[in-house]
Amino acid sequence: MKVYDVVVVGKGNAALCAALSARDKGATVAMLEAAAVDESGGNSRFAGGVMRFAYSKVEELQQITEIPEDEAKNTDWDSNTIDEFYDDLYRVTAFRTDPNLSEALITQSHAGMVWLRSQGASFVPNYGAQSAIVNGKRKFFGRFPLTVNGGGAGLVEDLTKTAGKKGIEIFYETRAISLIYDGVKVQGVRAKQKGVPVEFGAKAVVLACGGFEANPEWRTRYLGPGWELAKVRGTRHNLGEGLKMALEIGACPYGNWSGRHAVSWERHAPEFGIVEKSHDPYRHSYPLSIMINAEGKRFVDEGQDFYNYTYAKYGAEVLRQSGQYAYQVFDAKTKPLLKKEYSGREVTRFTGNTLEELAAKLEGVDGQQFLKTVREYNAAVKTDVPFSHAVRDGRCTVGIEPVKSNWANVLDTPPFEAYGVTCGITFTFGGLRIDHETGQVLDLGYQGIPGLYAAGEMVGGIFYFNYPAGTGLVSGTVFGRIAGNGAGDAVKR
Ligand SMILES: Cc1cc2nc3c(=O)[nH]c(=O)nc-3n(C[C@H](O)[C@H](O)[C@H](O)COP(=O)(O)OP(=O)(O)OC[C@H]3O[C@@H](n4cnc5c(N)ncnc54)[C@H](O)[C@@H]3O)c2cc1C
Repeated sequence: MKVYDVVVVGKGNAALCAALSARDKGATVAMLEAAAVDESGGNSRFAGGVMRFAYSKVEELQQITEIPEDEAKNTDWDSNTIDEFYDDLYRVTAFRTDPNLSEALITQSHAGMVWLRSQGASFVPNYGAQSAIVNGKRKFFGRFPLTVNGGGAGLVEDLTKTAGKKGIEIFYETRAISLIYDGVKVQGVRAKQKGVPVEFGAKAVVLACGGFEANPEWRTRYLGPGWELAKVRGTRHNLGEGLKMALEIGACPYGNWSGRHAVSWERHAPEFGIVEKSHDPYRHSYPLSIMINAEGKRFVDEGQDFYNYTYAKYGAEVLRQSGQYAYQVFDAKTKPLLKKEYSGREVTRFTGNTLEELAAKLEGVDGQQFLKTVREYNAAVKTDVPFSHAVRDGRCTVGIEPVKSNWANVLDTPPFEAYGVTCGITFTFGGLRIDHETGQVLDLGYQGIPGLYAAGEMVGGIFYFNYPAGTGLVSGTVFGRIAGNGAGDAVKR
C-alpha cells in the first residue's frame, strides 16, 4: 500500500486546488484520477472559463490580470460587489443557498482568484463574449469580465504543471471505489488502477470527484424520469462514486438532490462532451430568439434575464417538451449577434426565405401552429422600446403567454433560421454536508468524520434550482482551498 498524508480523489479544478493547498501546508499528496491523461481534468477541463468573483473596482481586476492603465480607465468594467454577488446567488436559488457556504464562496472568491494566479493560472478580459460598445465606450455586462486563459482546459493544464513542480503525484486511470474506514477515522482509499485493485493509505482523504451527471441510472433516480435522455456536456467519468463512498460510511447528504445545471444544447450532440469541441454544442443566444416546441408553441420567457441567469434552468424546460427538443428561431436582424458556435459545422439548422418555407422544413414541429405563434408574437412586441442587447432593455411582449420580457424583436426580416436544441446536463446540485471552515465532511449527526473532506461539485447546499453563470469554477477553487487547507492542517497537527 502506498501511503501519503493526503490523498485527493479527482483531478479537476477543485481537486487541484485542494492538492496544491494541502501541499503548501507541507503534506505529501497523491491525486487519483479515474480518467487517462488525455481525458483527465473532469468538467473543469470542459469549462468555457468564465469566473464570477466579487470585485467593485478595476484595481481588483488588476490584481488578477494585467490591464493597461488606459484600457482600465476607458472601459466600463461592470461590478460584482459582495452585495451584488449575494443578491444574484440568493435570487437564482430562491433564497435556499446555505448562508455559511454562500458566505465562504462569495467573500473568499476574490482571494481565490489571486491565489489561482499565484499557482500559475492566467486570466484575460472576456471582451468577445461579455462586452459591447455602448455610446462609444466598451462596456462589460453579466458581472464576470475575466475569463481563464485557454478556458477550463488552460486552467487544468496550468494547475497540473504546478502540481508536478511541487511534487504532487498523480495516478491516472485510477478509479476510487471505496474509503478505507475503521469505523472512527478514514484511513485511505481503495481503487482500481486499469482494472487492478490497489490501496492508498492516507491520514486524510479529499473527495473532489464530481457529481452524478454522467450516470443515467442515478439521474433517473434523483432528477426524475426522462433525465436518462439528457446529453452530458462534460466528462463521462463523474458517476457519483465519491458521493456513494461517502454515504456508505455515514456522510450526511445535503442540498438539492433533484436539482441540476442543464442547458439548451445542440440537438444531435454526442452522448458526452468532446473536450476538443467542448464549445461547439453551446446554444446560449436564445434570449434573442423565440423558442418553439414540437407543438409549435413557445414555452419559456426567453428574455427573462441575461442568459447567465436563465441558461442553467432552461435545459430542464427543453427536456420537458415532447421529444425533448425545441427550436430557437431568429431572423436576419439578430443573426449578427449570435454567438460564434451558431456558425459551426455540426449544427442542426433550418433556413427559410419566408416563415412558411421555414415552417415546412422544421422537422417534428406543427407548422400551422408555429406560424400562428409567430403571428401572435410579432403582434405583441412593444416596438416603441429601443432594442439593446447589452442591457435588460425592457423591450417586451404584451398580451401573450409566456411573456418575453426583454430583447423581443419582430420576426420579419428574411432569411429566417431555426436551431434544433435538446437538454445538455452540466452537473448535479446534490452533495455532502461539509464544515464551511475546514471542508470536513459531516456525518448524519453533523459531527465531522475524521480524515474525510470534500470539495467542488460534491459540496451540497450551494445551488438550488438554478445557478449564476461562472460560479462552478470559483466554487471549486474556494472549497478546494478550504478542504486542502483543512486536510493539510489536520495531518500536520
Ligand atoms: C461544457 C461545460 C462548460 C462549463 N463552463 C463553465 C464556465 O465557463 N465557468 C464555470 O465556472 N463553470 C463552468 N462549468 C462548470 C464547471 O466546469 C464545474 O462546476 C467545475 O469544473 C467542477 O469542478 P470539480 O473539480 O468539482 O469537478 P470536475 O472538474 O468534474 O472533476 C472531477 C474529477 O473527478 C474524477 N473522478 C470522477 N470519479 C472518480 C473516481 N471514482 N475516482 C477518481 N477520479 C474520479 C474525474 O475524472 C475528474 O477528474 C462548465 C461545465 C461544462 C461541462
